[in-house]
Parts: sequence; structure tokens; C-alpha cells
Amino acid sequence: MSSAESVPASLGERIHSSAAEMIRPVISGGVPLLEVRLPEPFRAVFTTRWDAAHLSEARPLDLRGDAGAGARETLARGLGRLEGRVEAALVLVSPQQVHGVRVAGTAEYRRDGANTPCDGLVVNPDLDSGLAALLVFADCVPVMLAGEVDATLVHGGWRGLLDGIVQQGAASMTGPPGLAVIGPSIGPCCYQVDSQLTESFRRRFGPEVVPREGYLDLWEAATRAAGEVGVARQNVVNPRLCTVCNRDLFFSYRRDGAGAGRHGALLWATGA
Ligand SMILES: [Zn+2]
Repeated sequence: MSSAESVPASLGERIHSSAAEMIRPVISGGVPLLEVRLPEPFRAVFTTRWDAAHLSEARPLDLRGDAGAGARETLARGLGRLEGRVEAALVLVSPQQVHGVRVAGTAEYRRDGANTPCDGLVVNPDLDSGLAALLVFADCVPVMLAGEVDATLVHGGWRGLLDGIVQQGAASMTGPPGLAVIGPSIGPCCYQVDSQLTESFRRRFGPEVVPREGYLDLWEAATRAAGEVGVARQNVVNPRLCTVCNRDLFFSYRRDGAGAGRHGALLWATGA
């Protein structure tokens, strides 16, 4: 790890060219982030595994559970600066994720949902002002859907994708989504699974989700799920950042095992 190496530089180089206009590396409050250029008033970022822009100074930004409280504070401050509101950090709303298909409103979840599992949050500018939906990941696929009125962020692991979390996310929105964004997650290069699972996905989404025998393409499955809720393929943004391949940037359950940390996907709406 060279001291001159900076996280955003290496991040920018790895974003697939098809997504380069929509996703760009930024440093906010010293925290390296991938900013997603959603239509106004929605904002979104993906975190990396680092809390500082230079790898030599960085500690892991592990957003897991109770231990991640300090990391979430660092992140909330960083987002506050991204918003140009240095004094007012966004309040992060981070549900307990269980690979289910329940989706809730962000303020609604904060009010009523404590300790209720939830794998998707909807952000509505009127209802969820000052709040940012935060879901955490270590290989599973973050999927964002943005519409004219509201936007949603869901946790797309294999179980959630098969069970319809993307469809549930869209159904929880006020209008149809026009754009989908797929975040850093395990790619078809690395996602080796058993034949029962490839068969289930082949049946559900078609043969293209099994690029070679024994491997599953969750990105393609998420793209097809987005298609089912009306998002055309050309409106699905995918930086094609594999969490296993990009060891220096992301956490990976598959690679690091049960001790793996969690990076995050955050979605919020800018205030008036
Ligand atoms: Zn890979």
C-alpha cells in the first residue's frame, strides 16, 4: 500500500465506462465516496472500506451494527459537508437487514420500526427531510430506484432478488421508477454457487443470469428485475465494481468470511 495512493483515484479508474457519467468519486469531510448523480432532489453515495481519502491514513469504515456507530458518525458528518450543511449532519436510518422483502418509508421506519427487520427504505422529500436511508453490504447488491416523486434503496442478495425485493421496492414508491442504480457487489467473475441456485435463477430470470456453469450474475438479475418494474436496460447504471476483486476498496463476505466489515449505500433527498 503506497502512501501516495489515494482511494478516489483508484476508484475512478475502476468504474465501468458506461457508468462514469453517473457515478464519480468524491471526497466529503475527508471521507472517500462514490457519488451517484440521481435526478434532483435525490442524492446517493456508496461508501468504500476507508474513512480517509489516503490509504496510508485510513482506518476501516466498517458500518456494521453497534461497533459501526463511530463510522456512521464520521459518515454523517461527511454527508453534511457534501450537502454544504457543515453544521447539520444527516440522520442516518439503518434498519436490521434479514434478506427479506419488507420495504418501509425512512421516517416511518425511524418512528415505528426499531428492531423490525427491513430490507428496503423509500425516501420521499416531503416525508423524510433530514434523513438518509443507509443499508450495509459485503457482497449483496445495493439497488436504487428513482422516480419523479420518491426513490428507494433495497438490499438485493440472492434471496431478496429471487423473492422480489426490487419489485417490492418499486411497489412502495408513489410512481414508477425511471432509473435504477446497481452498487458495488459481488460480480459474475466471483460469484460461484451451487447448481440448485443457478437453476432457480435461470428459471426466474432467464439463461443470461448464468454466464458460465456454476457462476451467477446478480447484476444481470437485478437489471432484469428493474426491467420488470419498467426501467429500460439503458437506464440501469452499473459501475461493475466487484467487491471480491476490489479487495483494497470494499468488504466482502465471500472473501473475508464472517468477520467481514460492511460498506454502505445511502440515499436521501436534499432539503428545500
Ligand atoms: Zn470479481
